[in-house]
Amino acid sequence: MIQLKGIRKSFKQLEILKGIDLTIKKGEVVSILGPSGSGKTTLLRCVNFLEKPDDGIVRIGNVQVEAKGAKKKDIISLRKQSAMVFQHYNLFAHKTVLENVAEGLIVAKKMKKIEAHKRSKQILEKVGLSDKLHHYPSQLSGGQQQRVGIARALALNPEVILFDEPTSALDPELVGEVLSVIKNIAREGITMIIVTHEMNFAREVSDYVLFMDGGVIVEEGTPMEIFTKPKEMRTQKFLKRIS
Ligand code: ADP
Repeated sequence: MIQLKGIRKSFKQLEILKGIDLTIKKGEVVSILGPSGSGKTTLLRCVNFLEKPDDGIVRIGNVQVEAKGAKKKDIISLRKQSAMVFQHYNLFAHKTVLENVAEGLIVAKKMKKIEAHKRSKQILEKVGLSDKLHHYPSQLSGGQQQRVGIARALALNPEVILFDEPTSALDPELVGEVLSVIKNIAREGITMIIVTHEMNFAREVSDYVLFMDGGVIVEEGTPMEIFTKPKEMRTQKFLKRIS
């Protein structure tokens, strides 16, 4: 249901993604691990063309876009298939929690305000924020802000949610609440791709794990295969260093 073929991306002369192929089935949770600078975030951003790949094909559900000669309207259809949760939340500072979640439904899904608010309240209950509907982002902790970010993505009911290091900007004591919300969503069978440095979390939540280094997928497999019996030297070294 999600397919990447031959994804390449360079910034200036430097090739950051060197031909990535990947297939993800509906409902799968896939984590991307790897050292800083290995191209994880760039790959995630190529999935929705937030970074336009130089070459390759992205398919999500029934929308397929070829990087070379991609038309604006095809990129817009592709973007509608996914929602992203950012490292720094990217909430609207001048909108309340409820309005932040409802905005995408009103603008992208053309939902009536009353309906959008009803759905947003239901989703905010799922992430444990029913008591914060009328707060502004600045009145919330980082963990709460990120839970709003997750609610906003969920509300759109996308084919896939893309998580870009969702806990890396948080104080350590706030990481747990966000990971536990993501775990709950994963149980509902929503397809997810997660770039993370949280190894225990990746091990618990993922159906499939990719280890990237130097712009390529060095090794991929089940959490069991990657964490207990990594085959590649680079994976072994990485896991040893961070454990
Ligand atoms: P990771 O997520 O694995 O840490 P990134 O995908 O963020 O890696 O970055 C990979 C490399 O690409 C880094 O060297 C980074 O500096 C570079 N890079 C990422 N985005 C840009 C950009 N917009 N312009 C120039 N270089 C970039």
